[in-house]
Amino acid sequence: MGIEQYNSIPPKATEFEFSLFGRGTAYGESIVLHLGENKWGIIDNFINPKTKKSTALEYLRAISVPYQNVEFIICTHWHEDHITGFTSLVEQCEAADIYLSAAMNSEEHNRMIGYQGKALSKFNPANEFVRLVTYIAQSPRSLKRASQDKVLHKSKIGNEELLLIALSPNDNTISYFERTEYKQLEKLKAQEDGVFKISKPEPNLQSIVMLLTIGSDFGLLLGADLEVTTKSGLGWAGILESKMITTHSQVFKVPHHGSENGYDEGIWKQLLKTEPYLALTPMKKGKNTLLPTERMINTFYNYSARSYLTSNPYLDTVRHQNPKVRNFINRKGEKISKPNYDYGQIRLRKGFSVNESEITCELFGAALPLSELVES
Ligand SMILES: [Zn+2]
Repeated sequence: MGIEQYNSIPPKATEFEFSLFGRGTAYGESIVLHLGENKWGIIDNFINPKTKKSTALEYLRAISVPYQNVEFIICTHWHEDHITGFTSLVEQCEAADIYLSAAMNSEEHNRMIGYQGKALSKFNPANEFVRLVTYIAQSPRSLKRASQDKVLHKSKIGNEELLLIALSPNDNTISYFERTEYKQLEKLKAQEDGVFKISKPEPNLQSIVMLLTIGSDFGLLLGADLEVTTKSGLGWAGILESKMITTHSQVFKVPHHGSENGYDEGIWKQLLKTEPYLALTPMKKGKNTLLPTERMINTFYNYSARSYLTSNPYLDTVRHQNPKVRNFINRKGEKISKPNYDYGQIRLRKGFSVNESEITCELFGAALPLSELVES
């Protein structure tokens, strides 16, 4: 089923929009932002498995937005569920600035990825990276680097200023990855046999977390897949070093598919208003990765009743190997069926002016409120 059958009403020129898309089969995340006056931004990308097209672009087409109105495309981190079809997206949005994390765009990183591209595997995300770098080398465009406190986008709608600010990676993170990649390259020099096996460490820590503000009142925190870590000055603790956090956010794209390692109540309370909107994409990979867990679903719901998920990852897991998961599904009394959807969309809109502070939240496709999965 295509997006146009669910949602084809564009926002008004003076209306901000945040749309979070997840693949119905719970493996893919993409964000579309309306910046006002029919200007748009895209963060991360995944391919609709049925149409083989970018879900973000399918949505823009459904609401008749020309692709040259896309002002920026950002890749938060280089993980498969965020980057399928990324180069094609970049090619189709010719006017867009392209941002990668400054912690994954060093010379060392690009050389290492070049090696990784030669590794033998069925789907190798490094191949998509090589494709992007090759395209950029042949075009007049360049890759921009996002790092802590850099303004990635700025526009003025009426009297209100919209700012998109990167809160990560900070300097600590950038040097940590430069050191790690240097060591990896040293190892590779001794391994010139044509088959390269590289385990790239912790791409989630390279993630670009962003804060979008409108005036002094509205904040949207985009958590990418950033984790909490004991490594000093990295992960969510590093976000608090930002000098650009001037407002608590009332909307939060929850990091890392609602996994425990993306959650720190103390940090969240410093960044969020009470009872925020929480928007999540789930993650289902293989037999054993299923996020968010039952425990975290309850944690998020207790944090805020305004919590939403782009699809129910438990819907078609009747044969799940883990007995705890099977019991969970049975307790919910879910009708077990093959998923018949391609995507889920959580859409929030609000007027730009201070007088229009009310947020409307609508769900399309497979999206659902978290309350439907919470123990009653
Ligand atoms: Zn992810």
